[in-house]
Amino acid sequence: MTSKQEQSPAATAVPDTVENYVGGEWVSVDSDDGQPLVNPATNETLAEVPFSDEATVDAAVQTASEAFDEWSRTPPVERVQYLFDLKSELEDRQEDIAQALTREHGKTLDEARGEIRRGIENVEVAAGIPNMLREGSGNVQDVASGMDEHAIRQPLGVFTAITPFNFPAMIPLWFLPYAVATGNTFVLKPSEKVPLSSQIIYEAIDAVDFPDGVVNLVNGGVDTVNALLEHEDIEGVSFVGSTPVARHIYETSAKHGKRVQAQGGAKNYAVVSEDAELEEAIPNVIGSVYGNAGQRCLANDVVVGIGDSYEPLREQILDAIDDLTVGNGLDEDTDVGPLITGESAERVKEMVEDAVDEGADLVVDGRGFEHPDYPDGNFLGPTLLENVTTDMDITQTEIFGPVMALTKADDIDEAIEMVNSTQYGNASSLYTENGAEARKYRYEVDAGNIGINVGVCAPMGFFHFGGRKDSFFGDLHAQGEDAINFYTDKTITIERYYSH
Ligand code: NAD
Repeated sequence: MTSKQEQSPAATAVPDTVENYVGGEWVSVDSDDGQPLVNPATNETLAEVPFSDEATVDAAVQTASEAFDEWSRTPPVERVQYLFDLKSELEDRQEDIAQALTREHGKTLDEARGEIRRGIENVEVAAGIPNMLREGSGNVQDVASGMDEHAIRQPLGVFTAITPFNFPAMIPLWFLPYAVATGNTFVLKPSEKVPLSSQIIYEAIDAVDFPDGVVNLVNGGVDTVNALLEHEDIEGVSFVGSTPVARHIYETSAKHGKRVQAQGGAKNYAVVSEDAELEEAIPNVIGSVYGNAGQRCLANDVVVGIGDSYEPLREQILDAIDDLTVGNGLDEDTDVGPLITGESAERVKEMVEDAVDEGADLVVDGRGFEHPDYPDGNFLGPTLLENVTTDMDITQTEIFGPVMALTKADDIDEAIEMVNSTQYGNASSLYTENGAEARKYRYEVDAGNIGINVGVCAPMGFFHFGGRKDSFFGDLHAQGEDAINFYTDKTITIERYYSH
C-alpha cells in the first residue's frame, strides 16, 4: 500500500501503512476499494485506507472464532495479566498515539492526550474482571429441599465494535478490554476516517502478545460493517456513531440474532441558572461547545440563560470566544482544531445560514476563517447564534461543529422544556449552586448523562456510558457493569444429588 507522509517532526510517530491485524499478525489488505486518509488541518494525504471485503471479514471472524474456546477457558486471573501489560504498552505509546490522533482527526494534542487517558482507564477497570464476574452471579442453597441454584457468568463468542471518527483512541477502548476480559474474542472496525490511532493501539496489543486470534482489527467502510453484521459467527455488536447508522446497526444486528448496543447522535443543552457561579461556569460552557471543534457527542451546543443570568452570560461568552485560537492541533497554542472533512465544514456553514434564515441572530460568524499557515485546512472559527427557538433546526439537529446557539428562558421549568424538546437524550448540563434546582433538573431532564456545573459529563470507566431516546438503541450501555452484562450471559444451574 502506498503512503505519503508529511514532512514534520511528528511524522515518525505515524505508521506508514494501514493494515489489518488478524490472528496475531499484521495483514495487508488486498482491495481496490478504499479512501485516502487526510490530515484535516492541511488536507494532505497521510495514507490510503483499504476497505476489507466480505472474504477478508470472514477470515478475521473465523480466526476470532477459533481462538474463542481456549481463551474462554483461560482463567480470568490469567486473562487480566494481558490487560496489565496492555495498560503499560499503551502508556509507553501514549505520545505516539496522541501525535497520530491529532494528525488524523485534527483535535489539539492536549485533547488527544486526555482522550487516550480515558481509554486506558477502561483497560484499568476491565483488569478488575475476576471480582466483577463474581458480581451478578450467585448461589442460593436449598431452593427446594436438597436442591441448590447457581448463576454463573459465561462469555459468548466473537464480538465486534464499530466506532466513529470523533474519539479514535478512546471509543475502541470502551469495548475491547471488557470483551476480552470476560473471555470473548474481538474484532474492531474503526472509522475509516481515522484508522491510525487503532494501528498504534494494535501495536501495543501485538507487543502484549495476546494468544493469536483473541484481538483482531479490520479496516473498512460500509460493506465491511455489513459483512460483520451479517456474519453468523458474530455474537454481538457494539456501535457508536450517528443516529441513522445506529438504527441500521440495531435493526440489522437484531435481524441476524445478535446482541447489540448502538449509541447514536445527540443534541445537548446547557442551562445557566441565576444561581450559577458564572466565572466558573464559563470555561465549562465554552469547552463543551468549542472543544474538539464541537465534534463531541456530549457537546452542549445550545445554551440557555435563565432570567438575569442572560446578559452577563452573553458578555462573558463573547469575551471567552475572543480568546480562542483556531489552528492546527499540533501547534500547542491551538484551542479549536479543524473539522474532520471539508464536507463537514460546509454542512455546518449551511446550518448556520439556515438558522439565520429561520430568524436567529448571527453574533459571531466564524465561517470566513482562514488560517494563514494552513490555507487548505477545514477550519471554522467559533460561531455564536443568538435568539434561537426550539422550532429552529439549529436547536434540534446535531451540528458537530464549533457553533453555539444561545437563548433565554424565564425559569427552570421553561428551560427544562427546551432541553427535552429534541429527539435525543444523550447529555445535558445545569450550572447552579442551588441543590433543589439541580435535583429537579436531574429528575426531569430525559438524558442519560447530566452534568451539574460540569460541561462534558463523560462517565468514568467504572460507570456505564449511554444516552436515551434517539441517542441509544439497545439495553446495555458501554463501560462498567453494563459492559460486563453485555459481554456475558448468566447460566443457571439447579442441582441436587441423591447418593449423599
Ligand atoms: P458514522 O455513523 O458516520 O460512522 C460510524 C461508523 O459507522 C464508522 O465506523 C463507519 O464506517 C460506519 N458506517 C457509516 N455509515 C454506515 C452505513 N451506512 N452502514 C454501516 N456502517 C456505516 O458516525 P461518525 O460521523 O463517524 O461519528 C459521529 C457521530 O457519532 C455523531 O453523530 C456523534 O454524536 C456520534 N457519537 C455518539 C457517541 C455516543 O456515545 N452516543 C459518542 C461519539 C460519537
